[in-house]
Parts: sequence; structure tokens; C-alpha cells
Amino acid sequence: MRQNYTYRGVKGMRDVFPEEARRYQQLEQRARDLFSQYGCGEIRTPLVEHTVLFERGVGQGTDIVNKEMFYVPAKDEEAGPDALRRMVLRPEATASVARAYVEHEIDKTAGGVQRYYYMGPMFRYERPQKGRLRQFTQIGVELLGSPSPATDAEAIGMLFDYLQSLSLGTLTLMLNSVGCPECRPGYIQALQAFARLKHAGLCEDCRARLEKNTLRLFDCKKPECRAVMAQAPNIQSSLCAPCRTHQDQVLLYLTGIGITPKLEWRLMRGLDYYTRTVFEVVSENLGAQNAVAAGGRYDNLVSELEGPATPAVGWSMGMERILELMPAAAPVPMFDVFVVDPGPDTAGTFAHVTFLRRQGVRVGLEHEGRSVKALMKRADKVGARFTLFAGSGADTDRIELKNMASGEQVSLTWDEIAEHIRNF
Ligand code: ATP
Ligand code: MG
Repeated sequence: MRQNYTYRGVKGMRDVFPEEARRYQQLEQRARDLFSQYGCGEIRTPLVEHTVLFERGVGQGTDIVNKEMFYVPAKDEEAGPDALRRMVLRPEATASVARAYVEHEIDKTAGGVQRYYYMGPMFRYERPQKGRLRQFTQIGVELLGSPSPATDAEAIGMLFDYLQSLSLGTLTLMLNSVGCPECRPGYIQALQAFARLKHAGLCEDCRARLEKNTLRLFDCKKPECRAVMAQAPNIQSSLCAPCRTHQDQVLLYLTGIGITPKLEWRLMRGLDYYTRTVFEVVSENLGAQNAVAAGGRYDNLVSELEGPATPAVGWSMGMERILELMPAAAPVPMFDVFVVDPGPDTAGTFAHVTFLRRQGVRVGLEHEGRSVKALMKRADKVGARFTLFAGSGADTDRIELKNMASGEQVSLTWDEIAEHIRNF
């Protein structure tokens, strides 16, 4: 890495070169394949949204809105009310998906349950560190329109199947219920009463959370606060009957597909929009930033955004954290054929190579006039399956093709190459 470079990239944002990009592509392809089996289609929303969307959707008291927003300055002459002049780079996509759903009146035009997946960059102004970037990539799923616990199980099943297929080591699925507007207020009161008594044992941040964002007391990572919160009242015993039944059903459906979550009553999730089911997948191999994916049910978000009452459930996972856990795959050869001797007729060779590429053969050809020896080295390095020696002298039609694995060498015409390679 070059030191003190004038034009260096922005802190917490990464450059991804082809070899690593291929790992992203594999994850993306796997997601597209699997999610389409579940009837999900891709949704693409803009990277920039009005700030109010997240203030309303994610919530005023959350870290995302309070501390992590990446603001986009609007031009002074931008017309409209103040609220529409304030913009941010999106910190997450659930609110955007819900906004798009409402704005395009999907409930009226499409009907039924809408099943979406998305993938792309998210931006949060956090302190960059291992597993924590300012631009990171999420893949997520949102299922809108079903109140059924079976849909929670389906969403979790998709996530589980996806992660299972990647050999990421031991992952734990934690699950909890954060209740609903019926039973949550009573729990929050009980929690406040508890926390006021324990005021002295809490850090400054938590004392501030106590009155306004009481549930977030569980998010604090400081050992002293965690010790206090371990004694807090358990939300599971405050759930109303419908919330309890919902959770029991989710667990039943999950058991039926071989998934046993760990019930974790302290799991609350940092966003305002969750109702009932919340879950998180953690890895033991990631250190402090150990959450790979997280999500839950959000029955009130769409209506909060002035949409029709639309129960929904979804989740999101961080691709960089998954890549960190993924075993390095054996490198895939970049080329089928690498030209190590272009012969005297370089324009002819260039035309033939182009013709081969048009037939779907991946051909490496360099135009810098390097020696055969140097090009052999290069072919080896990029893992070419065959090397090619273009004809020289009288018979420019005959070319030699060498199988790099077996050492076998054959003499062919340009027209025969594509076919020959397909047989290996
Ligand atoms: P954390 O507790 O690690 O801050 P979070 O609750 O803020 O996570 P979510 O908003 O639920 O995260 O986002 C879902 C997933 O996106 C996380 O589980 C994580 O894998 C990933 N993620 C979130 N923030 C970042 C970040 N700053 N850098 C890299 N990945 C991230
Ligand atoms: Mg966070």
C-alpha cells in the first residue's frame, strides 16, 4: 500500500480487484439462484434517499440515524420543503424497499405477497475497524404482505440454507420476540423501572438510553452494563398471547425444516421497526464484529411510511463478514488459452484470437512483444489451460496447442481450436 498518497481513497471504503470481485460474484450468484427458488425477484432502489425516510423508518433514537448517517449535501437552489432537501447515502435498504412499495402502490397493482431480494452497497459513518466499514455490501430479503409465522420461518430458512451452502464454520442463529404495540409498552415500563434502580451501574450512554431508547440498553457492549442487563426482566414473560403463539408457530415451522434457533431474550436489534420475531446469525470466528446477518418481522413499517397496513419480514447480511469466513476457493484459471508465441503475422493472430473469443473461448493475448519465455511464465502464473504457438515461416495456418496439465501438444488450424478445447 502506498504511503502518504495524495489521492488515496476514502477511509473505510475499499477497492476490490478482479480476484476478490470474483468472490463477491460467487456470493451474488448463489443468492440469485437460491432466492429465485423461493420466488423472490431482485429489487434495486437508489443509493441516495431523503434523510426523513430513515429518521421515520429506522428511528430517531438509533445509532444509524443519530451517529452513522452519511449526508449528501443538496444544492442551495434545490426546490421543495426542507425535508426533501436533506439527503443521505442509504445506511440500509429495508426502509427503501418499504418506501418503494408504498410509492408505487404495489399493494394495488400487484396484489399478494411481494418477495424481493436486493444486493448492493450501504453507507454508515462508523469508526472503521475490522469487520466495520463505511461502505459495505449487503444482500437482503424482504417478504411483504404476510402476517403468517410460516413466512418468518421461510425467510429464516432462506438465510439458513444460503449460509449453510457456504461452509462458514459454526454459525449460531439467535431468535427472540420484541413483542408488539400491545405488549411491548408494558415490558418497556418494567425495564425502565429496573434500569432506574440500577442507574449507578450503567455507563453514561446507557443512562441516556434509559428513558428514550430503553430496549437499546441491551445493545451496549460494555461489560459493566452487560452484567447489569443480565439481571433485567425477561421480555419472553411479557409477551401477549398472540405474540407468544406467533413465536411458538415460528419455532414449530423451523423445527420442521431442521433449524433449531437459540432463544436469546436479550436480543432486541437496534432498529425501531421490528415487531415480534427478531433474529441474528453470529459466528465464533469473527471477533468483536461477529454478526453475519440479522433481521426480523416489521409489521408496522409500511404503515409508518403512510402505506397500507402491510405485515412483513426480512433480513440482511454483510457480504464482507461472510467473505472473511469463506474458505479461499482454488483459483479459477483466467484463460482457456494463452498465446505465448503470436508468430510473425500479429495482425492475423489478433484477428484469429478475436474470432476465438467471439466463440466463447477465453484467450489471453499480449501486444507488448515480450519474449516467448516471458509469456510462458505469464501463462503459468494466470493458470492458462492451454498455451498457443502461432504458426511461423511458410505454414502460418498450422498452430501448436499445448495442454498445460498433460504436456500433450497438437497441431491444429485456427478453426479447430474451439472444438478441441471444448473436449477438455
Ligand atoms: P453491528 O451490531 O455489527 O453494528 P448492525 O446491527 O448495525 O450490526 P444490521 O443493520 O443488522 O447490522 O446489518 C446487517 C448486517 O450488515 C450485519 O449483520 C453485518 O454483517 C453487516 N454490517 C452492518 N454494519 C456494517 C459495517 N459497518 N461494516 C460491515 N458490515 C456491516
Ligand atoms: Mg451497527
